[in-house]
Amino acid sequence: MPGVATTSLVAAEAARRRTFAVISHPDAGKSTITEALALHAQVIGEAGAVHGKTGRKGVVSDWMAMEQQRGISITSAVLQFAYRDLVVNLLDTPGHADFSEDTYRVLTAVDCAVMLLDAARGLEPQTLKLFEVCRARRTPVITFINKWDRPGREPLALLDEIEERTNLRPTPITWPVGIAGHFHGVVDRRTGEMTAFHRTPGGATAAIEEHLAPAEAAHRHGEDWHRATEELDLLTLTGAGHDQDAFAAATTTPVLFGAAVANFGVRQLLDVLATHAPTPQPRPDTSGTPRSVDAPFAGFVFKIQANMNKAHRDQVAFVRICSGRFTRGMTVTHATTGRPFATKYAQQMFGADRETIDEAYPGDVIGLVNATALSIGDTLHDGPPVTFPPLPSFVPEHFAVLRAADTSTFKRFRRGVEQLDAEGVVQVLRSDRRGDQAPVLAAVGPMQFEVAVARLDAEFNVTTHLEHLPYQVARRTDPASEERLRGQPDAEVLTRVRDGVLLALFTSGWRMGSIADRQPGLTLDPLLPAG
Ligand code: GDP
Repeated sequence: MPGVATTSLVAAEAARRRTFAVISHPDAGKSTITEALALHAQVIGEAGAVHGKTGRKGVVSDWMAMEQQRGISITSAVLQFAYRDLVVNLLDTPGHADFSEDTYRVLTAVDCAVMLLDAARGLEPQTLKLFEVCRARRTPVITFINKWDRPGREPLALLDEIEERTNLRPTPITWPVGIAGHFHGVVDRRTGEMTAFHRTPGGATAAIEEHLAPAEAAHRHGEDWHRATEELDLLTLTGAGHDQDAFAAATTTPVLFGAAVANFGVRQLLDVLATHAPTPQPRPDTSGTPRSVDAPFAGFVFKIQANMNKAHRDQVAFVRICSGRFTRGMTVTHATTGRPFATKYAQQMFGADRETIDEAYPGDVIGLVNATALSIGDTLHDGPPVTFPPLPSFVPEHFAVLRAADTSTFKRFRRGVEQLDAEGVVQVLRSDRRGDQAPVLAAVGPMQFEVAVARLDAEFNVTTHLEHLPYQVARRTDPASEERLRGQPDAEVLTRVRDGVLLALFTSGWRMGSIADRQPGLTLDPLLPAG
């Protein structure tokens, strides 16, 4: 019902949203916890009834049915589900071989991140890389220490590692009773009560929870309970308590313990998300003025997914809503061009069995099909013009020269490269020395190159060759330093087409150091992951 939405309705709907992503290293259990969260939402929705033998395999295929029954909408980009009276949006951060800038950009569209750690492995490299993006954007982070059902590290040692390597102060909300591998349950520090976890018989996924008062917990779990309370006393002495302001300012991280595979601790995580995770906040526009969530509709494109199937070359632009109410079919303005943009194709993807997309509110993500006019970072809005800042470019670590196999295809080659740059598939770098015919592609993950080559072939009918360059380190530099770096072996300066930034590339950090030692005063600024 267009026009009926009042500002208070939009603000109330925004306040019900919790939009987050899970950041983790491959194998820490992201898929498992995603399924557990979705299942949990289903279980809660059905008044605590656990149906049938919902094994892990079944959960995934049940999603389509869940979608229809419960209005849960699942795409490769976002899982939306109801929990209590909330609407939870869990955005997917592709984290395996396809790790790329796409993964980072998802983090520009969330209000909170769940950092998922494997209890035996602690903070792993990919988790840290993703965390850096959260840090740069001051995104609040909740930590979930997973796989507590298997032998792992000491909980206090894990907290030390988090504090040392992320600079976030861990403030546990729950604490495990029983060392990793002998997991009985968790103490909720806010109540002092223990929740004992029991695996459900017959392979059902949801755990049975039993609430124990301290005396009962001590009686049942003597040694383990004693140890947990001693550790908790230590935490209390050091003042590691949850502080909502410090969490919202991204200086502390609430910590929970669990085992996603057995659904232990997953409800507690949902509760912490519900109670503490930030709701969608006013997003600043390019002038720095925050746009209130109940202003007219506005959102930005944070992900473009191209379908590489030749017969069906759809391109879906995923838009994070920042303000206002979206109704399917509304015509909005594309801020970059000032042209009207019809959203009727939202229905192709999200219609029929994805009713929830009929309308959407701040915090939600909509997928616009065939949105070829849209580029990464573009703003769409209703009413008076607004433009959100462009999405950040991320530190590339892989570099390759791209050439058309046949020079007669050069025009198409150039158009294709421009398109891939606009979509943010890769970063495109140029220099006079290399010329137009041989741009350098830069990527966070090498998979981005494969996508670029495949798309040039499929969409622009250009066969290309990649020649990998030995550079590994990029720094922002300036024209004076460019001059001085010219002719240095193992180094090269190129211009990033997207923003005109001069990037100095080096074959290694060590090589860069030795060049900088011999030429004091060179400008070599580290690029922030989100800067
Ligand atoms: P992802 O790569 O982060 O998505 O990880 P997956 O969810 O695929 O999990 C990787 C492996 O860890 C799988 O074999 C899971 O069954 C297992 N796993 C996930 N969570 C747990 C857990 O809490 N305990 C144990 N023991 N294994 C787990």
